[in-house]
Amino acid sequence: MKTWNRWAIHCGALLLFVALFRAGMAHGQVDLPPAAALNLTPIPDKLVVLTFDDSSKSHFTIVRPLLIKYGFKATFFITEGFDFPTNKREYMSWDEIKQLHNDGFEIGNHTRDHLGITDNTVVQLDEQLRGIEQRCQEHGIPAPITFAWPGNATTEKGFSVLRQHGIRFARRGGAPEYPYEAGRGFAYEPGQDHPLLLPSAGDARPTWTLDDLTQAVEQAKDGRVAILQFHGVPDTAHSWVNTPQENFAALMRYLAVHHYQVLALRDLAKYVDSDRVPEDAQAIIRQRKQMLSAGTDKTDSLDR
Ligand SMILES: [Zn+2]
Repeated sequence: MKTWNRWAIHCGALLLFVALFRAGMAHGQVDLPPAAALNLTPIPDKLVVLTFDDSSKSHFTIVRPLLIKYGFKATFFITEGFDFPTNKREYMSWDEIKQLHNDGFEIGNHTRDHLGITDNTVVQLDEQLRGIEQRCQEHGIPAPITFAWPGNATTEKGFSVLRQHGIRFARRGGAPEYPYEAGRGFAYEPGQDHPLLLPSAGDARPTWTLDDLTQAVEQAKDGRVAILQFHGVPDTAHSWVNTPQENFAALMRYLAVHHYQVLALRDLAKYVDSDRVPEDAQAIIRQRKQMLSAGTDKTDSLDR
């Protein structure tokens, strides 16, 4: 009898353990945070996204070999605006854009005509996106899933059209938190910044030094991502956003030497759910502006 009792107790304990274990598993599944449910990777420190606007010829001749040398990824935001169709000395050809895609870089949409998207022009957004999508299709490039707002204009009225076109992330400049001229900005804060209004942590200017770059990329910590915006290297067509070749080389060397992970904008899908949007897309922008006007313009003081 004693042996039988011991066996029954052991058996009961085993069943109880299995039941508790299964309950724990089920409980765990129910309570998994959204990030884990989507198999998202936690955002590491020193995550930088490189973006290049306006289809500058130097993106192919100068930027491409340098990025390949360092193994950096990047997004090239393509527009046929300005005199892209006729000026092939200063703007890339579609064959060169296709080569960037073949190299593993991302081709993003920057509207056909470099049209600033405002409440007044948002009715044209659909055809503006479509113009670039058609060119991509003609050249065997997948339809872009990222977008850069041209000319520092944005409107939330464009969100639904962007989503209809499969756009997951859209990048703006460092404004309105900082004045456009400064080229400064805040790092992207997932959950706070709307995925279709991602700020540029730095928007390179002709006078940019290594200090300006470090001010931007040192924000890439505690779950934040530094998105950098460049134009031509050099930009002979748009002098106000020119980056001299030697400056650019020094900036890229800095990122490599300091072990930054450099990605394209589309790569953020590994870390964040682009469908998760803040209730009020302007709230974080207002908060930052208040902070700046209060004089605490240290970009890393937004700890929450
Ligand atoms: Zn542009």
